[in-house]
Amino acid sequence: MTMTADDHVEKINAIIAHKVGPQRYKIWFKNSTKLAIEDNYLKVGVPNLFIGGWIENHFSDQIQAAVREVTHREMKVIFTIDPELFGSQRRRQLDSQAESVARNANPSPLQRRTNRFTRSSRLRLKLDNFVVGPSNQLAYNAAKTVINEPGKVFNPLFIHGGCGLGKTHLLQGICNCMAEAREDLNWTYVSGEDFTNQFVLALKMGKLDSFRRRFRNTELLVIDDVHFLASKKATQEEFLHTFNAIDTAGKQVIMASDAHPKMIGQLSESLVNRFISGMVVKVEIPDFATRCTILRQRALEMKKQIPDAVIEYIAEHLRANIRELEGALLKVIAYSSLSRTPVNLAMAHEALADHITRTDPIVHLSDIESAVATFFGITPADVHSSRKTRTVSLARSVAMYLARKHTSMSFPEIGRFMGNKNHATVILACRKVDELIKKSADKNAIWETPAGRREMKMEAILKELEHSISR
Ligand code: ADP
Ligand code: MG
Repeated sequence: MTMTADDHVEKINAIIAHKVGPQRYKIWFKNSTKLAIEDNYLKVGVPNLFIGGWIENHFSDQIQAAVREVTHREMKVIFTIDPELFGSQRRRQLDSQAESVARNANPSPLQRRTNRFTRSSRLRLKLDNFVVGPSNQLAYNAAKTVINEPGKVFNPLFIHGGCGLGKTHLLQGICNCMAEAREDLNWTYVSGEDFTNQFVLALKMGKLDSFRRRFRNTELLVIDDVHFLASKKATQEEFLHTFNAIDTAGKQVIMASDAHPKMIGQLSESLVNRFISGMVVKVEIPDFATRCTILRQRALEMKKQIPDAVIEYIAEHLRANIRELEGALLKVIAYSSLSRTPVNLAMAHEALADHITRTDPIVHLSDIESAVATFFGITPADVHSSRKTRTVSLARSVAMYLARKHTSMSFPEIGRFMGNKNHATVILACRKVDELIKKSADKNAIWETPAGRREMKMEAILKELEHSISR
């Protein structure tokens, strides 16, 4: 009998559970990792840096041993961040909350409610728990305007900003809110990637008609991570038609991306023009007070008592990305349940020590990535990608160099958290930047932007980036 990769993964999970014990397994693995066997390595998807780092530091041996036992060979273990996991973790928490509410309520209205949400159940994020502060007030107001007057004032609405700053949350919140208000609303929420895949599939299967019918008749079209369409010509063309059809019918289009439309390299000019013809708003990095409010709310949702000092400690040290902010809170909570003591400041110090000494508290990988991406006119997703155009390669090298210089992450760590690159890639990248610094008297770094070719001395590039990172 041959075993499939899925069988293997299932067995590996079981052995890990056995080795680390049920309680640890439940906290660190059950809902927070996704194992997959790929070629010669075991991929461990984790919701965020903390959980990944923690698992690596504490359970590497057990994972390796489990892999050996099941596959009878040595396999590299590679960690990747899978944001979906964080979502599912949250959803489960909220689901169990919902269940306990359900048990105490009269079943009939709840039943109705469940039915109504069946279609949108895929979209977990709601506006009710979106914390509004100066960093996202504009985007939130725009969202509210669209909800009240779809297809009128802000069409399309384009939300952009760095990773983990709440764009998806806003988009899903709008969908849920509008679907709730109008049961028969024909709405579609897809990622740029799904749109592309569905389009390509429709092309292949000769089902373009039904693809078009589906997208062009929608009254609310929401495309998340629309930067995915960059460099995909045919899909862009199709999207332009979809877009025009919906717009002409006076229906609403909403998009999100990690860069301003003009900064998404390789987007056709006609699309850029359409994107900026409505309302373009940016979500910024939240200020300290907003970070605290988000943490308090998350703690409340999880029914956990977290002292203010701990909230403030986390908010002070994790600035640039709400997903990581939440990840840190989760880690402290996990720490507390492992040690069976209530959360306190000393515990937060201990739980986050790894992270905070490893990466400078002021400079964070995501700060570096977003500064570099903005500077070179690409997106953080490009930095992570395996694209090798001159601009993307240069940007990636610079990001790796800065990560090496300003955080205390190791070469393999940098590689792993920058789109799963090999540590040798990181070393080469750093060397390349060093070379450019040495030769800067007679050699500039050159890259392309939507506005044409640019060149600059490497030292000057680094200086400018370091300035923007340290702000
Ligand atoms: P993006 O799409 O910009 O990368 P997400 O919308 O996925 O970011 O947000 C990352 C995480 O942070 C999600 O769990 C989301 O619920 C949470 N989050 C972001 N902004 C807020 C906010 N203003 N209030 C509450 N939670 C937020
Ligand atoms: Mg998103």
